[in-house]
Amino acid sequence: MNYQEIIEEILAEVKPLQGKGKQADYIPALAKVNPDQSGICIHTLDGDEFAAGDATVRFSIQSISKVFTLAMCLGLEGDAIWQRMGKEPSGTAFNSLIQLEIEKGKPRNPFINAGAIVMCDILISSMKARNKDYLQNYLAFIHDVSGCNTINYNTDIADSERSCGYLNAAIANMLKYYGNIVNEIEEVLRFYFLTCSIEMSCCELAKAFIPFADHNKPFEFNGIALTASQVKRMNAIMQTCGFYDEAGEFSYLVGLPGKSGVGGGIAAIYPQRYSVAVWSPRLNEKGNSIVGLKTLELLTTRTKESIF
Ligand code: GLU
Repeated sequence: MNYQEIIEEILAEVKPLQGKGKQADYIPALAKVNPDQSGICIHTLDGDEFAAGDATVRFSIQSISKVFTLAMCLGLEGDAIWQRMGKEPSGTAFNSLIQLEIEKGKPRNPFINAGAIVMCDILISSMKARNKDYLQNYLAFIHDVSGCNTINYNTDIADSERSCGYLNAAIANMLKYYGNIVNEIEEVLRFYFLTCSIEMSCCELAKAFIPFADHNKPFEFNGIALTASQVKRMNAIMQTCGFYDEAGEFSYLVGLPGKSGVGGGIAAIYPQRYSVAVWSPRLNEKGNSIVGLKTLELLTTRTKESIF
């Protein structure tokens, strides 16, 4: 398969869409990113890399970080985490408060904000019990899984999000009210915003998702080990819950497990074949990158490679 030719063609084709939609501006720092950028990178299990456009420009991974957070939670605490959140698609916005209240503080899944805030609480407790620094270890895990140790939190973005993070603070308060947060709300929120603020490029993200595409290889990074079955189950959650209340549409149009973020990035995998990351900052009304969605739809259509 000539991935290089295919992705170059697709990127040129989707260029006119680049002006559509708008970048996330509820996080003031994200509104400052030049929105006229787009990139794609594919990593195959054989170790080949194919990239086009702004594939090496780092951007804020935002909710894509929830995949790394889940991997760490599963590795450290196993199935016990499911007592505190579900695995069902939410069908509501990623920051919905209504569903959380109706369901008495148990988030639908780990990939909505409420679920990720609970996971941050789990990681803080888990790391503290091991006398480990959770911020350092979170980053070390990402360094190991991506093979790149210059990836970092962007504290300006985290501060900027905190300055306007009223809805996430409301979610954290409701979780605490229902007894689903153990640590101090401010500490948990800080960690959550920092995980979202991490900056990676399409090429770094694609590389970091390879272990999720290759469940036959032992998954062990910075002491976090997952079984093949756990990796496969993570893929199932990406497939059903990875795109806010557009997970059905993404399954329908693209047919790959993945995760999007409001920084305009999407990382996805074709199990046993490749991982792919796309990025372009302007989003549709559900919070997914317009160029990113179209690029992946065209990729799986042209290559005739999807999990279905
Ligand atoms: N930091 C963002 C928030 O909490 C992440 C949202 C996302 O990327 O889906 O609103």
